[in-house]
Amino acid sequence: MSSIADNIDAIRQRVALAAERAGRSPSDVELLAVSKTFPVEQIQEAADAGQLLFGENKVQELLAKQPLLSSKLRWHLIGHLQSNKVRKCLSVVDAIHSVDSIDLARDINRIASELGLFPKVYLEVNLAAESTKYGFKPEHLKQSLDELYSLDRLFIQGLMCIPPFDANAENTRHYFVVLRELRDELQIQGGAPLPKLSMGMSHDFEVAIEEGSTIVRVGSAIFGSR
Ligand SMILES: *Cc1c(COP(=O)(O)O)cnc(C)c1O
Repeated sequence: MSSIADNIDAIRQRVALAAERAGRSPSDVELLAVSKTFPVEQIQEAADAGQLLFGENKVQELLAKQPLLSSKLRWHLIGHLQSNKVRKCLSVVDAIHSVDSIDLARDINRIASELGLFPKVYLEVNLAAESTKYGFKPEHLKQSLDELYSLDRLFIQGLMCIPPFDANAENTRHYFVVLRELRDELQIQGGAPLPKLSMGMSHDFEVAIEEGSTIVRVGSAIFGSR
């Protein structure tokens, strides 16, 4: 069985190779280690291997783990955020990948203003119109863009997606292309850069990088199956 440190090493190499294949610099792609459901001991192991950026999908779990680990670690929320957890979330996270509605964006903006913060956020897009998933529909995002840009506490980084699962990563490439093209359209519409794309997980991060991902969210390939 390979160790967490070995897994991180191997993934970093695969990230670098995928970036090079796409004519990109490996340093343009961040690795977010998704530690949901895994205990702090394993997160510590990853941290000892030099991994300092972690993702959790539940605020409660993040709040429970974060105080037990070094303050050098940075945390991103990647799961749906309920309005009543925004305040607690903002006090511990470095970025939120899952801003999935205009109501949530307004709540984050208001509470960030009360707390004197400018949180980094990604707008989550539901590309396949899956009823089981959160996220803006692409058309709705275009309609909401002006209001989103008027929320002056939000430091909007770019877009995020969780495509329908397919064990064959090539079948997911299309969604990554669609997210990138939507980003390009929104940049023109809004007249502001959206430099970041949060896309790619354990089974498809290389394809996502080839299509422009700037941050891959990798869990099981680092920590094992959940
Ligand atoms: C769990 C999760 C991941 C990581 O999934 P793996 O397949 O374990 O790499 C990435 N993104 C989100 C939003 C998740 O909830």
